[in-house]
Amino acid sequence: MPAFSEQELDKISAEMENQTPQQIITWAVETYAPQIAVSSSFQTQSVPLLHMVSRIDPEILVFFLDTGFHFWETLMFREQLQREMGLHIQNLYVDGQWKNFLDRFGRDLYDHDPDLCCYLRKVQPMQKGMKTVRAWVSGIRRDQTANRHNAKIIEVERDGLVKINPLLNWTRQDVENYIREHNLPTHPLFEKGYRSIGCKPCTRAVRADEDERAGRWDGKGKTECGLHTEMFNQDGPGKSALLNGFLLNPSEDETQ
Ligand code: SF4
Repeated sequence: MPAFSEQELDKISAEMENQTPQQIITWAVETYAPQIAVSSSFQTQSVPLLHMVSRIDPEILVFFLDTGFHFWETLMFREQLQREMGLHIQNLYVDGQWKNFLDRFGRDLYDHDPDLCCYLRKVQPMQKGMKTVRAWVSGIRRDQTANRHNAKIIEVERDGLVKINPLLNWTRQDVENYIREHNLPTHPLFEKGYRSIGCKPCTRAVRADEDERAGRWDGKGKTECGLHTEMFNQDGPGKSALLNGFLLNPSEDETQ
């Protein structure tokens, strides 16, 4: 496996701006397999990437964050895509070290402290999963959020993990075109207005005139879970009074 410096990866990334997602994935597989994994949330916009990687490298590992809060339709869709595309899925779960904390606060943590909830249920399990590989293929697009607008096709994350974003220059329309051209399935909730789907408590359907991600963390002042922001490179969610209080007094009974 060639070891590229960060400067070399920057140069390759710039050259890839005009390449197709399939060309970018092929380079990633040839460079890093078998130490490479794809992350997927198994929603409609995940379908083209999963289809492409399953054709280019059927053995590629697919990480799925099982937060415990998914729509059952998402779990069914995951099973369907696994069967139809022959995917090798590995579920990632919240770390056992947080059991006591989540027993006390986990039920509605998404309301009290959604950044902490995402950190414990998504970011930290993904950090742990990604320690087992050298490269991460993600399906983010520049047209999704302001943060993603500034992403690069190849990025270097914590511990030298190389993140590859083959669909970065695609649009929502490209996703829909690919699905139609290849006669691929869509998430069962897509036609009901769920254009972007995450955990059930933090997702609502959107109107036709709304942004596709307008239904994610609506009213919570949050647009990203942290997987694709600087939070991924941190060892904690930042300031969390709830977590800091718990760590200071882990056995304190809040009912007293
Ligand atoms: S999306 Fe909501 S429920 Fe899921 S981990 Fe983030 S805050 Fe928690």
